[in-house]
Amino acid sequence: MNIVVMAGDDIGPEIVAAALAVVRAADAEFSLGLRCTDVEVGMASHRKHGTTLTDPALQAAIDADGVIVGPCGMTDYPPLDEGGINIPGTIRKRLDLYANLRPARSRAGMPDARRGLDVLIVRENTEGFYSDRTMHQGSGEFMPTADVALSVRKITREGSRRIARIAFDYAARRSKRITAVGKRHVLQMTDGLFMGEACAEAGAHPDITLKEMDIDAMAADLYSRPERHDVILITNMFGDILSNLAVALSGGLGLAAALNAGDNHAIANAGHGSAPDIAGKGIANPAGMILSAAMLLEWLGLRHGKPAFVQAHRAIEAAVDVALADANARTADLGGRGNTRTFADAVVRQLRNEKLQAVAAG
Ligand code: ATP
Repeated sequence: MNIVVMAGDDIGPEIVAAALAVVRAADAEFSLGLRCTDVEVGMASHRKHGTTLTDPALQAAIDADGVIVGPCGMTDYPPLDEGGINIPGTIRKRLDLYANLRPARSRAGMPDARRGLDVLIVRENTEGFYSDRTMHQGSGEFMPTADVALSVRKITREGSRRIARIAFDYAARRSKRITAVGKRHVLQMTDGLFMGEACAEAGAHPDITLKEMDIDAMAADLYSRPERHDVILITNMFGDILSNLAVALSGGLGLAAALNAGDNHAIANAGHGSAPDIAGKGIANPAGMILSAAMLLEWLGLRHGKPAFVQAHRAIEAAVDVALADANARTADLGGRGNTRTFADAVVRQLRNEKLQAVAAG
């Protein structure tokens, strides 16, 4: 299995190195047969080649079985015509990664986490209110007069259908509950279409419960009654906002994990930014990046029918739980005394024990 590794910018190289140490340990413990290849992107690539994403780098992502991408410092990139390419955005578009999967769970050692939180946000990744990038030609945001500004929200039947299918796939392996989130009584046509496709998919899964909820009520519930929800199916921009709330409620941004997946490709990239303020200090929390890489292993396992990959995911999750509970291992953003290295070491150490537990748990 070929994995392309793009370190990104700022804290990217530090947390990707930590994630890679964990992936390599999982590879050894579970005999995954991974071949990881570093591909330079970001400002390091720009300095050498005049672009943050060269054509061969993009091709390497296309050819890989899976990609791990560290956070990229896009705000510091030069303009597009000077080579400042949005790396994850370009790869997402090129590989049609229409599902953004964002888990959030309360874990031991996270005193600020909401008890009972354990959700997987399944966010549509290609449409919605991102009016600047969803049109075939031109922008979906425009000003018909000097005093009127309009934004167009794009929802398609096919986009809604395929993301609903992903939500049901994941719900089937979790607690068989989906909350579909929108604001249908206001956005009657767009959310109507989105919810309609979710309901149609529900017809094929009588064992899975689907309920609908308004985004405002969902935000409150996530805070006060998170245990009511498991898989959350949601449109693009609502999903962006809700997933940041969910990860904050799980204990902090450093825990933010994300997988961008399509039918044939997936990339793991942490759900937080490149944190330039703490870059190079060795203190960044690698948990989100590690968990993202683990999600990629699970996706590969499910796609290729390789149970060892799914077990590796489970074992990494369990090992991260143990490392997070240890104040000497976890990083300062979570109130710990550890750093990027101590955390990764703790996860690797634990992985060897977790492997046995995961195998035993089947
Ligand atoms: P972007 O615009 O790239 O999405 P952002 O504005 O959301 O980025 P981040 O880079 O995610 O900002 O950082 C926000 C704050 O959270 C910063 O203070 C940063 O140091 C902190 N932070 C983000 N990720 C981590 C991490 N992995 N470990 C520790 N602190 C982090």
